[in-house]
Amino acid sequence: MFKAVILDKDGDKLSASVKEIDDATLAANTADADVVIDVEYSTINYKDGLAISRGAPVVRRWPMVPGIDLAGTVRESGSEEFPVGSKVVLNGWGVGEGHWGGLAQRARLKSDWLIPLPAAITPRQAMAIGTAGYTAMLCVMQLERFGVRPQDGAVLVTGAAGGVGSVATALLSGRGYEVAASTGRLEEADYLRELGAVEVLDRAALAAQGKPLQREHWAGVVDSVGSYTLANACAQTRYRGTVVACGLAQGMDFPATVAPFILRGVRLIGVDSVMCPREDRLQAWENLARELPAEKLERITREIGLDEVVGAARDILSGKIRGRLVVDVNA
Ligand code: NDP
Repeated sequence: MFKAVILDKDGDKLSASVKEIDDATLAANTADADVVIDVEYSTINYKDGLAISRGAPVVRRWPMVPGIDLAGTVRESGSEEFPVGSKVVLNGWGVGEGHWGGLAQRARLKSDWLIPLPAAITPRQAMAIGTAGYTAMLCVMQLERFGVRPQDGAVLVTGAAGGVGSVATALLSGRGYEVAASTGRLEEADYLRELGAVEVLDRAALAAQGKPLQREHWAGVVDSVGSYTLANACAQTRYRGTVVACGLAQGMDFPATVAPFILRGVRLIGVDSVMCPREDRLQAWENLARELPAEKLERITREIGLDEVVGAARDILSGKIRGRLVVDVNA
């Protein structure tokens, strides 16, 4: 038997609790998997918050074990690439949405979804990074792919005190960018400066409808917020600058005009971590293991146990979580 967070639905009523599960039940619910993993750490991302607190549309099958991320050790294997004892990381691929996920002491997954844990980091550090941090790296890679360089000027990070935002701030500052961090929690200004932000902005300045074209500020933007914030970020981006959009913490809408794109040649690039090809994942994790200093990662991380997951899911949706939450599933 092992412990797992189980989401279930009775009519319209959702339930989320920690339960004891046996291997046969796990196997029956993960028929297409070829690898069994002893999970060491998982994490709570915004999407896990949505799954645990609201169910649909993130959760597509019931009952479900949530958790879009995990790190652990292979216990049984039908894969030559990942023999028993291999340390692995999993992010996305619909795990915790349509396939039983990482907020459990054991998981059964397809080996195609796994990547080897980089040698320089521990399973706990991998989950301190999690999907939020790996997405932040994908965003940084896209900024650079589209030509944004540190000497081009300041880069804006929105939702800066959240998971994606905290890691993006640390990564960009590590690469030599001048980072302006936008946050609704100005009391976290010192935290954001410690991560490397040179300027901390009140998110209220970006949160409401603004003019289609505004004063040019940003060479690049990493946006995890969407809605008016993304529209204003585009309107403030410099000629031929790049805006990378990955999130919807303010809203899924995009109430913008085409003016920044057709008059300033601004590029708007989307980032998806869930189905991201393996080559980009491996590159992102290699970069993360090399670039993210252990002390900065520890600074953004708080650890909880499985029993605290349901409360933490509510908190992340109300924007109360600073940085990243790691879940020690064996605590
Ligand atoms: P967090 O909750 O950790 O961070 C989100 C941050 O957004 C909050 O901390 C807050 O930052 C800000 N925020 C929250 N509510 C609002 C609001 N109403 N208006 C403006 N800002 C707000 O979540 P994550 O970092 O895990 O995820 C961030 C977003 O990115 C989510 O929408 C998530 O779904 C998305 N995401 C997308 C991925 C992809 O593959 N495309 C992968 C990972 C995440 P502050 O307090 O500093 O203002």
